[in-house]
Amino acid sequence: MQNEARLLHVTGTVQGVGFRPFIYQLAKAHGLFGYVKNLGNHVEILIEGSPESLEKFLKELPEKKPPLAKVTEIRSKNVPFSGYSKFVIVPSESGVFENSIIPPDTAICEDCKSEIFDPSSRYYHYPFTVCTNCGPRYTTVRKLPYDRENTTMADFPLCPECQLEYTDPLNRRYHAQPVCCKKCGPEIWLSDPEGNVLARGYEAIAEASDFLQQGSIVSLKGFGGFHIACNARKEEPVKELRRRLKRPEQPFAVMAKNTGVVESFAELECSGREYLTSRRRPVTVLPKSKEFNLAESASPGLHNIGVMLPYTGTQNLLFDRESDAVYVLTSANLPGRPMVVENKEALEKLKGIVDFHLLHNRVIANRNDDTVIRIVNGKPAFIRRSRGFVPEPIDLPFDIEASIGVGAEMNSTVTVAKGKLAYISQYIGNTSHLETFSYHLEVVQHMSRLTGIEPIHWGCDLHPAFNTTRFAIKMGKENTLPVQHHHAHMLALMADNSLPQDSRMLGIALDGVGYGTDGTVWGGELFESSYFGYERLGHLLPQPMPGGDLVSKVPSRGVLGILFERLQRTELEKLPLSFPQGTQEFSAVMKQLERGVNIFQSSSTGRVLDSAAAMLGICGIRTYEGEPAMKLESAAKKSTHIVDLPIVFREAGKSGLPALDTTELLLGAYELLGKYSSADLAFAVEESLSKGISELAVSLAAKRGLEKIGLSGGVAYNEHITSCMAGTVREAGLELLTHRQVPCGDGCISFGQALAAGMRTNP
Ligand SMILES: [Zn+2]
Ligand SMILES: [Zn+2]
Ligand SMILES: [Zn+2]
Repeated sequence: MQNEARLLHVTGTVQGVGFRPFIYQLAKAHGLFGYVKNLGNHVEILIEGSPESLEKFLKELPEKKPPLAKVTEIRSKNVPFSGYSKFVIVPSESGVFENSIIPPDTAICEDCKSEIFDPSSRYYHYPFTVCTNCGPRYTTVRKLPYDRENTTMADFPLCPECQLEYTDPLNRRYHAQPVCCKKCGPEIWLSDPEGNVLARGYEAIAEASDFLQQGSIVSLKGFGGFHIACNARKEEPVKELRRRLKRPEQPFAVMAKNTGVVESFAELECSGREYLTSRRRPVTVLPKSKEFNLAESASPGLHNIGVMLPYTGTQNLLFDRESDAVYVLTSANLPGRPMVVENKEALEKLKGIVDFHLLHNRVIANRNDDTVIRIVNGKPAFIRRSRGFVPEPIDLPFDIEASIGVGAEMNSTVTVAKGKLAYISQYIGNTSHLETFSYHLEVVQHMSRLTGIEPIHWGCDLHPAFNTTRFAIKMGKENTLPVQHHHAHMLALMADNSLPQDSRMLGIALDGVGYGTDGTVWGGELFESSYFGYERLGHLLPQPMPGGDLVSKVPSRGVLGILFERLQRTELEKLPLSFPQGTQEFSAVMKQLERGVNIFQSSSTGRVLDSAAAMLGICGIRTYEGEPAMKLESAAKKSTHIVDLPIVFREAGKSGLPALDTTELLLGAYELLGKYSSADLAFAVEESLSKGISELAVSLAAKRGLEKIGLSGGVAYNEHITSCMAGTVREAGLELLTHRQVPCGDGCISFGQALAAGMRTNP
């Protein structure tokens, strides 16, 4: 039969993942000639040979692709036969690399892992061992194209042995940019707090593991930043770490060698296991097991704990001598501030916090925190989407123009988007801190540089005082679109569920706070939402927030705000509330409420849950973000009696819209104090709140003829609330849409903003 030729264009994550050598080997296996060439976000392949072999090649390409490659599209066309006599890999040309996709950082693979534990391997005990199928990527890339000289590995010229492996298309390390060995690669060492070197190489890791066992606190430099570690099996080191970090309650994530060890302290449901063991290695939030064989202070007052398995060579080697060890592994940062990434910075900023540093000399080009996932209603919910996922793009259901979303204020991310792809950045943090905001600016530049997307349209929050809003207006000028916070949640949710551009949905946004269009603070909203706009149809009853933002830090204030008009002062005094300034603060808040001074109105769902936690004596003063609602959920898990609380709807004064009366809800719980446990009442508050909101949503959807109901916002991380709402919506014959690949908290805001801005010119 006559030989034929095909020209293929393969799109997706096909750079830096061993895709070209794979094609080379596949072509060779079928006796095909031609070439493979990298063109940024896609690879061009010309293959020539018998039609039979061409068919086999095309069939096996998607089936046998390398583990880190993600193929989104293969376009193939017949071209004239030109008679190649071999198959070649054409070197990358510099030039246009728009929409080039850099792979995320990936856990060390089994092959590399067995080499670092094999005394006969030249990689024995070498923590930076990597290959095409594993290791750091995004955190090493300075600019495009993704070649070694544009990564932080440029500081380490290859030795002859590594060069051989790097240039051999049949080797597992062919063109793996971070490839290196003991002779030519980065070095690891253990230092004291002053920076004096105590040990190098494997010895440094072994000593660090000994120190950890003995109760010391050690910093560890990883892929995307520093962690602080201590022994999680013992109370003393964990308590000491809390004291030094001034974090009395905030849960710490822990790391164990394997799932066998994890089972000694956490329950591994099927879906939890899948994420925990995936090569992306997120922190997976798992329920604590009955026999919780760890320090209670690792995750105090909560029914669950964040767990991860080792993903770097160093982390794996830390378990070499102590396979049963469990370490606390928490990001080295001040709350809301960026994680430490430089050695010098670690020595300065972690003074007085850590006893030893396990350092290395590979520079971190991109800071990248651990991803945190929780399984909610059977689906993964991203509390933080970062390492292992970023910068993998999200596919959009339609084309948009080049745009950027700068996020809100808390838990911010940045999204750049163009065409059918959106790239959400790593977790940035609280941009009201100057240090975090300057990191935010870095991420904006970097995301644009790495994706080659020059944003035309800028999306930002409606809140005029956010640093991110001011920045977007300065940059985008008349091309800046302020997007209402909860509408941004809805846009993100719709695109996350691939809804087409003409879709309409009854959207429920439940979160802490977002700037409303009527001068009040929103946070418990029911919208008719489309990609192009929204109409507010209902909400939670606005409640007085004495002291504004202070209510989020002192939920006890919220209780007084909600119940002030319905209870006597003597009754309020008897509640198990707590205030940082004691009774003085109580009196001051009462005075504010009597005079109506310094009171803000808010329909926030978060504040209602926080207030319930305070009223039930579960958490009156917050020590970390989300604490009251998280502890309320954990308390509710212990509930043994079903209690009904009143679900009352009324017309809200200012908006005239139907509202769920949260005063009646809290008052109902108040009247049962003492008759039922705080666990029963915590469960009842969550249950009635979810039922009330979802019943209102179902009736509004029916009225408007909307066939879809969706839920976004930080409250959606609450397993009980989300499952309960999904149940009510299901009973109405509908399905509750929730997030899939994008956080439901404010990590999704930049994504929603980028969509809104990028669609501006669409019909
Ligand atoms: Zn590997
Ligand atoms: Zn080498
Ligand atoms: Zn929000």
